[in-house]
Amino acid sequence: MSGGLVVSVRVAILGGGPAGLGLARQILARDDAGEMEVEVFEANAEVGGLAASFALEGVVFDHGSHRLHPSIDPEILKVLNELLPGVLHRRPRHGRIVLGGRFIRFPLRPVDAALKLPWRIKCGLLRDMLVRPSRYDTDSFAATLEGQLGVTLCREFYFPMARKLWGREPIEIAAEQARRRVSVRSPWQIIRRMTRQLWNRGRAGASFYYPDGGFGRIAEALAKDFERRGGRLSVSSPVTGLQHRDPGWQIETGEGRHEFDRVFSTIPISRLVGLMEPVPPTEVAAATSALHSRAAVLVCVVLDSARWTPFDAHYVPDSAVGLSRTSEPTHYAAARSHSDRTGVCIEVPCDPGDATWQMSDDELVNQVGREVTRIGLPPLKPIRAAEVRRVPWVYPVYDHGYDKHLATVRSYLDQWPGLVTLGRQGLFAHDNTHHALAMAFAAADCLGSDGSWDAAGWAAANDRFADHVVED
Ligand SMILES: Cc1cc2nc3c(=O)[nH]c(=O)nc-3n(C[C@H](O)[C@H](O)[C@H](O)COP(=O)(O)OP(=O)(O)OC[C@H]3O[C@@H](n4cnc5c(N)ncnc54)[C@H](O)[C@@H]3O)c2cc1C
Repeated sequence: MSGGLVVSVRVAILGGGPAGLGLARQILARDDAGEMEVEVFEANAEVGGLAASFALEGVVFDHGSHRLHPSIDPEILKVLNELLPGVLHRRPRHGRIVLGGRFIRFPLRPVDAALKLPWRIKCGLLRDMLVRPSRYDTDSFAATLEGQLGVTLCREFYFPMARKLWGREPIEIAAEQARRRVSVRSPWQIIRRMTRQLWNRGRAGASFYYPDGGFGRIAEALAKDFERRGGRLSVSSPVTGLQHRDPGWQIETGEGRHEFDRVFSTIPISRLVGLMEPVPPTEVAAATSALHSRAAVLVCVVLDSARWTPFDAHYVPDSAVGLSRTSEPTHYAAARSHSDRTGVCIEVPCDPGDATWQMSDDELVNQVGREVTRIGLPPLKPIRAAEVRRVPWVYPVYDHGYDKHLATVRSYLDQWPGLVTLGRQGLFAHDNTHHALAMAFAAADCLGSDGSWDAAGWAAANDRFADHVVED
């Protein structure tokens, strides 16, 4: 029973990141008749998944650099503003790329780039703009990007970044990863974007939304509204088993077994398959284990100093160091929380169990400390506190043939009535938070008030999701 009405549809949502919580909140917001009973199961003690925030010595950290992109669907933005009145602010981007030993403003600015880029890179870019291939191969990430952007940008930025983020040679990665991860398609487009910065500062492209109190407030606000509407949120509740019952589903957690009519899963798709009973056929298990995700270690330090640098983020393709990006959350928020300290988060991509993953926290703090000074950033000191987070499912990696494996897994999952996967992990998709929320809102639209499912509407929505391109 819920609010005195007979509940006719019991819905389980696996994962309490933006996709799971966005869906949970939307289902109840649309449920005028009070027909839905919705429970979210989240493995972690905190909600938000990759988009969660946490505090250390009073300084709020995100899981690496997180900004809400202004291309978010206006309807979704409206909901977020209703849930977070006066909290989401439009902020100017203020980052740098460490390129060829120099610090270049990012987003790129014409005068800054002209003055600071080494001649080697400037001449290469000019040549790549003038000599454009009329045809090029599109059989790998490397070939596609080289054809679109030219060798200089690939050699100096995209390829070293790809090796670092995804742990592969660019030629080993499928072309689709270029389409999903790189939003520019030609050097001329970069020039156009740069010139737009001249008169567009503070607006789309050069700006982002960020909530006071950390990016995680978006997921927290969705969770709060979901609970206010009668939803049940179970944190520290990893789902350990999933069994189809005819009709419905049984979900297993540490607290026992729970019965539901429908299950929406936003947890990693390969983990979901591993939880299912009966055990999937061998070819599905093989396809699942062929889908690889990259992990990351996040080294978060609180410094006894008002600020580390004046910039919000530094992007570091340099292959001499393991870190890929630094971010200073203080610069993301509109208002400072402390004047005597600041936080720095350093992202180090890796694989679960590799040497980086296994380093002790102290070793990692020391390593990133050496790396930042090596690339010319200020030393990380004096350190007041440090916390290291090891995150296993960070970047999906589209190896050649991943599409075949993903199709095998998805068509296996699709055959089960009442089971739908969505979100970054559920669809093995490269995305931003606004994409995960778009998936959540679309899924809620496809769920009828009687528990029916609009399969055609969801298929059409999935076609739209294929156009999502990550904004860095
Ligand atoms: C380093 C980094 C930087 C990023 N920067 C940005 C940015 O600037 N802007 C932006 O918009 N987006 C950014 N993103 C992307 C953003 O984090 C994701 O789009 C978003 O978090 C996806 O939400 P999701 O709910 O689909 O997945 P997730 O956030 O991954 O949530 C999945 C949830 O499932 C839970 N789970 C897993 N297994 C189980 C289980 N067995 N039982 C129960 N729960 C389980 C997890 O704990 C997690 O909470 C960034 C991502 C990374 C990694």
